Amino acid sequence: MKITDIFKNTDRTVFSFEIFPPKKTSPLESITGTLFELCAIKPDFISVTYGAGGAMLGNNYTRMLASKIKNEYKIESMAHLTCVYSSKEYVDSELLAFKKEGIENILTLRGDINPEIERLNDFTYASDMARYISQKDSYFDLCGACYPEKHLEAKNLAEDVKHLKLKVDSGVSHLVSQLFFDNSVFYRFLEMADAAGVNVPVEAGIMPCTNKKSIERMVKMCGATLPDKFVKVMEKYEDKPEALRDAGIAYAIDQIVDLLSHGVDGIHLYTMNNPYIARRINEAIRTML
Ligand code: FAD
Repeated sequence: MKITDIFKNTDRTVFSFEIFPPKKTSPLESITGTLFELCAIKPDFISVTYGAGGAMLGNNYTRMLASKIKNEYKIESMAHLTCVYSSKEYVDSELLAFKKEGIENILTLRGDINPEIERLNDFTYASDMARYISQKDSYFDLCGACYPEKHLEAKNLAEDVKHLKLKVDSGVSHLVSQLFFDNSVFYRFLEMADAAGVNVPVEAGIMPCTNKKSIERMVKMCGATLPDKFVKVMEKYEDKPEALRDAGIAYAIDQIVDLLSHGVDGIHLYTMNNPYIARRINEAIRTML
């Protein structure tokens, strides 16, 4: 099923998960237990990331997992696909392979720039690949990434939102946001996007903070602001892993309840491949969706 139709056909908030494939050196089966537990929660869909910096070219884990989720576990899936290191021929071959597996949903991404890898000229931005795919084959439903606090390379949020509008006009029919810890930045972004004519559903990206180091790394990579309340939680429990995990889950639930009361289109949980955390959050919010 196309994710656009999930948004159209439900009167509740869409709830989705994101997972990442195992490293190339590990077998695909190493994620089977995680997948089984996440699928048992029955989210509306699960998206599968694609290795950064062209690292996954030639590695089929993203597609294989998206296929497994859809065809074995009967949960809708979405495959991430980056384009900055891809040729049109490569994208064509991926589309063909997706179609063979019945994978209809693609998160079209540019991908991060790695100065050590030579870029190809077929696609400069995510919108280039979105336009290419949407003009080629209406079989696919395209999603795009958006940044409530602007993309790191963008001059300002207004410019980034202008580019986002281009992405939507290129065939992207729903959006998933970068993680954020301050809901007010998300509401401000939604207002700006709406004013710019971005009129597709936007899912809020929520990452529960359960490990101080990994959150600090992510925040550095994406530039998310850390509200005082959040910093206090991390500082208080940084040396108590279980307490930090519980506090991180509580913070994420608090964020989600506020988002739901503001009528958000969807919640996209960055699960970090941790079913325990996903289960606890699901139990807390399921009746409110
Ligand atoms: P784009 O939409 O192309 O934007 C990139 C930059 O270019 C922005 O600053 C934008 O303002 C600017 N821009 C866009 N269009 C134009 C234009 N026409 N003219 C001038 N400037 C323009 N990375 C991975 O490698 N694998 C993943 O699986 C993955 N999953 C992700 C999932 C989500 C939900 C998010 C939010 C990010 C994900 N990323 C992933 C990271 C992403 O690849 C990076 O953030 C990357 O730097 C930008 O990708 P994009 O698709 O948002 O780029």
